[in-house]
Amino acid sequence: MRTVIEGCAIATIDAAGTEHRDGHLVLEGDRIVAVGEGPAPEAGARRIDGRGCLATPGLVNCHHHLYQWATRGLAQQATLFEWLVELYPVWAHVDAEVEWAAARAGLAALARSGCSTSTDHHYVFPAGAGDLLEVEVQAARALGVRFHPCRGSMDLGRSDGGLPPDAAVEDRDVILAASEAAIDRFHDPAPGAMVRVALAPCSPFSVTAALMAETAQLARRRGVRLHTHLAETLDEEAFCQQRFGVRPVQYLDDLGWLGDDVWLAHCVHLNAEEIARFGASRTGVAHCPSSNARLGAGIAPVVDLARAGAPVGLGVDGGASNEAGALSVELRQALLVARLGRGPAALTARGALALATIEGARCLGRDDELGSLEAGKLADIALWRLDGLDHAGIEDPVAALVLGAPCPVDLLLVGGRAVVESAELRTGDAEEIAADIARQSRRLLDRVAAAA
Ligand SMILES: [Zn+2]
Repeated sequence: MRTVIEGCAIATIDAAGTEHRDGHLVLEGDRIVAVGEGPAPEAGARRIDGRGCLATPGLVNCHHHLYQWATRGLAQQATLFEWLVELYPVWAHVDAEVEWAAARAGLAALARSGCSTSTDHHYVFPAGAGDLLEVEVQAARALGVRFHPCRGSMDLGRSDGGLPPDAAVEDRDVILAASEAAIDRFHDPAPGAMVRVALAPCSPFSVTAALMAETAQLARRRGVRLHTHLAETLDEEAFCQQRFGVRPVQYLDDLGWLGDDVWLAHCVHLNAEEIARFGASRTGVAHCPSSNARLGAGIAPVVDLARAGAPVGLGVDGGASNEAGALSVELRQALLVARLGRGPAALTARGALALATIEGARCLGRDDELGSLEAGKLADIALWRLDGLDHAGIEDPVAALVLGAPCPVDLLLVGGRAVVESAELRTGDAEEIAADIARQSRRLLDRVAAAA
């Protein structure tokens, strides 16, 4: 049966920037079959009343560490390196129960903020903890959100000059075998896929150059994407200069890590020549404005990157550096941070919405079927209620969404299936998930204290 949503404003985010004041969407199965102005011509379809709402593409989250949901509120005044050094020993006690609770809570927060597709960068694999990547894939399947987990890794421990403790790193051969196994087990290259895998060594200061190069070879042999952290802080820049004699972007370029199958988290500290290289190579960037502000890392040059032609998506980043974890909040945050750096014309409300939708889809290589509301694309749709006390009276619905008060999504469809309805999570019990993450966060800190 067909589903019709009508009576709503629609920001399609298509290439022409088409918007409707009072429009309709027609869905069949997991796809959109029609979008337009006025009521839908369909008879006999299930109808959803969209009056008072704005329809946008479901948001795409391009960077996260779901396990960190269990370690929120710690290291509150730390720089990135201080924060990591404080948290590595805590993360060493993450196990399958913590991962399950954290992944469900983090994904629920994303869904309630209008996010239909999320990636996750998981690079913590404590010995004996079980297959934590499988746990988060199960959590995403249970909640019904589209998921791009990254098999992350660290192989450069402190005794070799890296930042993480030796106990936190894995052997390179183990990592490469586990990465290939993750592709075999979870990666779905088919159209409409709910799960796709990427490979993601953690950062220049926690991974060897050999692992970076071999991971890129493996990813390209298997046709999956590459992700890592880059140029997040000046400490990282100093580390690269000292250890490799080059800036972070040159280091990655030398390893074959710039290209249209790569997207990189943060990219705060880039010079003009490096921005041009990102644009020319179509290397994507996951901009994480709240996390960058939380850690005082700086303001990423997203306007210049986008102008150069690089795809720039938005990310919430892990819960330990962004306790909110709500992607709708990052729309406003991206706009405000860009304007703090470059003045009020730096980023428009529609520009911010494009980052969180079509540009994020480009980062994940899914812009052929995600990121805009067009016939033939997947029915991943966020319906935002804008007629309540917070937003009523703002004539421009996109301005209400981006500039106005944080807006929980009223209806979130993923492949046509309701994950959030009437602003309530439908695919999980929010109270049970909250109780579980409270219990597991406490249990994690107890395990850390017992080991000390
Ligand atoms: Zn991160």
